Amino acid sequence: MKANEKPERIYPCPQCRKPVHWRTDNQWRPFCSHRCKLIDLGEWAAEKHAIPGDPAEDGSDFNEWE
Ligand SMILES: [Zn+2]
Repeated sequence: MKANEKPERIYPCPQCRKPVHWRTDNQWRPFCSHRCKLIDLGEWAAEKHAIPGDPAEDGSDFNEWE
C-alpha cells in the first residue's frame, strides 16, 4: 500500500442525495453533477431575487379625516 494513497470518501450529494465520490478532479463538488450544481445555484438566486416588496398601499387616502 502506497503511503500517499488516500481512501476514497463517499458523501451524499447535497441536492439529490446520490452518493458522490469525493475527488479533487470532480469539478462539481460538492455536487454529483453539473445539473445538481445549477439547481442549487438557481434556488439560491431565486431566493436572493425574491425580495418582498408590496407596492400596493401608497397612503394616498391616509389624511382624509379633516
Ligand atoms: Zn446530485
